[in-house]
Amino acid sequence: MAICDHDERMLSTMQDEPLSLATILRHAMTSKADAEVATWTGSEVRRMTFGEMGRQAGRLANALRELGVEQTDRVGTFMWNNNEHFVAYNAIPAMGSVLHALNIRLFPEQLTFVANHAEDKVVIVDGSLLPLFGPLLPGLKSVQHVIVANGDASALEAPAGVSVHSYDDLLAAQSEDFDFPVVDERMAAAMCYTSGTTGDPKGVAYSHRSSVLHSMQVCTSDGMGLSERDNTLVIVPMFHANAWGLPYAALMCGASLLMPDRFLQPEPILAMMQAEQPTFAAAVPTIWTGVLGQLAAHPQDITHLRSVIVGGSAVPPAMMKAFDDKHGVPILHAWGMTETSPLGSVAHPPSRVPQDEVWDYRISQGQFAASVQARLLDDDGNVMPHDGESLGELEVKGPWIASSYYSADGVAVEPEKFHHGWLRTGDVGKITANGYLTLVDRSKDVIKSGGEWISSVDLENAVMSHSDVVEAAVIGVPDDAWDERPLVAVVLHEGASADAEALRASLATTFAKWQLPERWVFISEVPKTSVGKFDKKVIRAQYADGQLDVVTLAGPTRP
Ligand code: AMP
Repeated sequence: MAICDHDERMLSTMQDEPLSLATILRHAMTSKADAEVATWTGSEVRRMTFGEMGRQAGRLANALRELGVEQTDRVGTFMWNNNEHFVAYNAIPAMGSVLHALNIRLFPEQLTFVANHAEDKVVIVDGSLLPLFGPLLPGLKSVQHVIVANGDASALEAPAGVSVHSYDDLLAAQSEDFDFPVVDERMAAAMCYTSGTTGDPKGVAYSHRSSVLHSMQVCTSDGMGLSERDNTLVIVPMFHANAWGLPYAALMCGASLLMPDRFLQPEPILAMMQAEQPTFAAAVPTIWTGVLGQLAAHPQDITHLRSVIVGGSAVPPAMMKAFDDKHGVPILHAWGMTETSPLGSVAHPPSRVPQDEVWDYRISQGQFAASVQARLLDDDGNVMPHDGESLGELEVKGPWIASSYYSADGVAVEPEKFHHGWLRTGDVGKITANGYLTLVDRSKDVIKSGGEWISSVDLENAVMSHSDVVEAAVIGVPDDAWDERPLVAVVLHEGASADAEALRASLATTFAKWQLPERWVFISEVPKTSVGKFDKKVIRAQYADGQLDVVTLAGPTRP
């Protein structure tokens, strides 16, 4: 898109006030002071109003200053979703420093890498995570202070040069008054690392500007529609893509937050829902599959949920329909990445389409936000039309999309992911003329059989709609005749008896004959990544090592 030339420009008459998380925090502390953040303890919640949260943020900011934290210094958090994490989320960027929420599910070597790469100066740790954090500490080169929240600081043995503090004691000694500065809106406010599929994790540094604009998008009706009327169950971790932007959006609109802390199993999630009646919830599909199973065994009214936003992986349509039909709760499908803050597209169906087309829109990855531009590129770099059919790799750009990965030494990290101002997503899909995205796969996952595409996502969804199936993951495996063929790894319900032949037969009405998979393997659980997605790398490696007991049916005769 051409940018206007500025030779004869006319500047606006508007104030050039920076977009700032400090401004939003001040708004939340006053205008939204009675909104609440509540953390589940296993049997009840610990509550804190936004007013109190703001006072705690002031105390934390004073404490961090006293420990030597300056503007742009990184402060790590190693925490569950809870009240104290929310305080840190707000205090650290608002004081001009950079919040780095460490992903507690990464492997120890990756955690050490990211904390050292970001040069975290202080880390705030939940007491229940000390057994995980303690062994890492000697390897964290830049960390000078560890603050232990919700636990016993004396339980942590500190190496030389590192001081350990109790969160409660530290804050109790501080004033709640802190003059949160408004910094340049382009400065980093928060960081998340994406573990990616290859190489070391890569850091995305969100700015104040991108965070404020993204929060506005979350609050729009055609975003997540978050508002002061919501009580929001934030299951998506605060260390994964900023919990999809919900904490800062809540700050902006005054939505209350319900935090699950470490209670992430279906049973406590449902107990929490019964007690607190959230109106909105956010989590990856695997969480909702578990909740659905638990609801089948122990029915419970969950119609207090006006909507549930699900993304991070494709949502199986069968699951969406089950929530609709059995529980009266609409699942809202969305697409995004750590690199996109993460909200890119949301699948609200247009209001003017016929009823029988609504599901086509709902199961898509959704319509791009107004400020997010998208294009598809084929293998030769040609831009493909948005005709709902042409496939290509998705590239996006916009004010809350990363333009590079964080580099401590000025050497560009994976510059090939950034393509003339566009972010290469590695996702392959199609886009309709009215801007709805449907992903068929990650670029490396796409199965090309005899020169034609097979969508592993479609196959997974179809297999998962079989009543005997709990989960299914499809990978492409090498094949002498067709280059590549799909292999389906299936988890059956306990006592279920469907075999490969029966499962394949159930797909016959939705797929062309040549697309039907002949390789099947029955496993007890689909391996998952640190953020709960299907880890197809592991299945691929198991297949390559000959570890899988594959049932092979007769294959297609021609594509
Ligand atoms: P992450 O940065 O870990 O959140 O991963 C981002 C990636 O997750 C995207 O590039 C997609 O491959 C995948 N993803 C996110 N949302 C969806 C979705 N709704 N459907 C399919 N894949 C998704």
